Amino acid sequence: MNNRITVTQPCLPPLEEFIPYLQQIWDNKWLTNNGPLHNQLERELADYLGVKYISLFANGTLALISALQALNITGEVITTPFSFVATTHSLWWNKITPVFVDIEMEYLNLDPAKIEAAITPRTTAIMPVHVYGNPCQMDEIQRIADKHGLKVIYDAAHAFGVKKDGVSILNQGDLSVLSFHATKVFSTIEGGAIICHTEDMKRHIDNLKNFGFRGETLVEEPGINAKLNEVQAAYGLLLLKYIDGFFAKRKAITELYQSLLKDIQGICFLPDMNGVTHGYSYFPILIDEDVYGMSRDELYEKLKENNIFTRRYFYPLISNFEPYRELPSAVPDNLSIATKVAQQVLCLPIYVELTEEDIQRIIEIIKKRK
Ligand SMILES: *Cc1c(COP(=O)(O)O)cnc(C)c1O
Repeated sequence: MNNRITVTQPCLPPLEEFIPYLQQIWDNKWLTNNGPLHNQLERELADYLGVKYISLFANGTLALISALQALNITGEVITTPFSFVATTHSLWWNKITPVFVDIEMEYLNLDPAKIEAAITPRTTAIMPVHVYGNPCQMDEIQRIADKHGLKVIYDAAHAFGVKKDGVSILNQGDLSVLSFHATKVFSTIEGGAIICHTEDMKRHIDNLKNFGFRGETLVEEPGINAKLNEVQAAYGLLLLKYIDGFFAKRKAITELYQSLLKDIQGICFLPDMNGVTHGYSYFPILIDEDVYGMSRDELYEKLKENNIFTRRYFYPLISNFEPYRELPSAVPDNLSIATKVAQQVLCLPIYVELTEEDIQRIIEIIKKRK
């Protein structure tokens, strides 16, 4: 159906521009394991993002799991229930107990004011998420981490290209993790990365993603296979040439949404943060049923009837999923803001090829209410 609008849609680079990269791979006969395109993408991304060391991964989830391994995180880790489920799954795969802490109301990120009460002798780290690419309260989180001797690993899957006061937020914490999944702003189809601060740590992470090999015959630790291959790296290198145009388009869409939605009673969106260069990866709105006159789920269904497929990111909360719902920190009383927001949030379509007419069509339905 051609009038179908989905929450996101990948923007593929021109096929003819991809062919020379494939030719290069065929000429090199080098398909994976630190190939030339893989290494070029690491250099170009470090440069583009303004970070020192980046290690590419097969996907963001393996990068999260490996980041926890790289820092030997054990015991309990404080994290947010308001995220994609992979954030908490990465803890589970390391046999770490997630401890959910509530979010703050303004940007829906982990609330630093509630972290300290959740720290126990078993706590070893904090894993916050820059939800929708809005930076967490990083100074405050770091202050708490330093005070209690905790590591900080940011799930920065939504934060590609996000800067605060001109500096990449990926330089914060001990490690930051990106996802390059097809639905993200920058993609290698499947892919991800860990950003770290020292050459030693990069070497450690590089070994971890390649079975723990250090050199030809030495295995230092039980690593995993989480390597990004040359075809994926080629796709990333080509996409990187288009990324600034993508950001400009997403910014324009965001601004159009903001201007068209600002007078609709009962609908609000997250304000732009001062001093932040945004990535415009999502456009979430919050629906106050009492004022708007329709619940989030009713609006979601209404849009669906009109061939507009929005997503309720992040509903249900991670803490409500089967593997985690019995945890002491998963009780709704402990997560009252997240519980409320999960009932109100709706992510509207945003992608490079979304047209102004598409947006008008979406807004008309939202305006009409019942
Ligand atoms: C996409 C995403 C991930 C997982 O990344 P994959 O590359 O799909 O494995 C993790 N955390 C968040 C917040 C995400 O949005």
